[in-house]
Amino acid sequence: MSAPTWLHETFDPTGSSIGFRVTKKLDEVQSPFQKIEIYESTDWGNVMLIDGAMMVTTRDNFFYHEMVSHPALFTHAAPKRVVIIGGGDCGTLREVLKHPGVESAVQCDIDEQVTRMSEKYFPELCASNGDPRAQLLFDDGIAYMRDCAPGSVDVVIVDSTDPVGPAEGLFNKAFFDSCFRALKDDGILVQQSESPLALLDLIREMRAEMGKAGFTTFQTLPFPQPCYPTGWWSVTLARKGQGFDFRQADAAAKGFETAYYSAEIHKAAQVLPPFVAKALEA
Ligand code: SAM
Repeated sequence: MSAPTWLHETFDPTGSSIGFRVTKKLDEVQSPFQKIEIYESTDWGNVMLIDGAMMVTTRDNFFYHEMVSHPALFTHAAPKRVVIIGGGDCGTLREVLKHPGVESAVQCDIDEQVTRMSEKYFPELCASNGDPRAQLLFDDGIAYMRDCAPGSVDVVIVDSTDPVGPAEGLFNKAFFDSCFRALKDDGILVQQSESPLALLDLIREMRAEMGKAGFTTFQTLPFPQPCYPTGWWSVTLARKGQGFDFRQADAAAKGFETAYYSAEIHKAAQVLPPFVAKALEA
């Protein structure tokens, strides 16, 4: 066993970095889209980076995968057809398929290598990949949503990397136009919306671009995410006029395990800290 060293991710937009004590690099692949690296850490299990950005750790990925999926799925009255854009590590897909009412979950990630690496180093996240309701596609999510049949989807989950590189086009009006058209009238778009501590302007821009595409109601839910810059992350939900009351009794009586999400956590996440509420309602 090699002597532990420290792996740091520096994140320019927040002027901060985070470090993990690692014992060795397990794997690395340069795909046509991005560089994927896997490390073994002393305390966080395996760690995946994409183009140098922290993506997933064995230890804390549940915060993110549960909050990017369950609030939207328990807010929708009866989600049956779900599309995940990105999500190549398959953790979000696993959470979506815990909902027995979901009949189809299509995951469209541009980079097959992310899934192949996740199958090797995060097999627990890929446990539902064989579910007959799951369909794994490897394509650009921009094209997938553009070509999606109008009014055919209940929930679109955008589980993408930061708005740079291949993911840049997942944060603009053109993409949100496609999502708006693909969603049914009671549909929900939910997207990872970065750090509410340091990237509030980006969240405001996302909501404005979603608004230009026709979405009229928005809800940003913050949650802890230790391995991401500032340790505090968010998802933003958008609808075509409906509100965000969620099926609290169903969430409280859910028949599946979660480590972070609960009906109370969902309710609490709806109360934004004053500085965030002020910035987003302005
Ligand atoms: N939880 C992570 C986060 O918040 O940064 C995201 C996890 S997942 C690994 C991000 C995925 O987005 C990657 O697998 C990447 O390949 C995918 N992605 C980026 N741009 C994409 C696009 N245009 N279409 C589909 N998938 C895309």
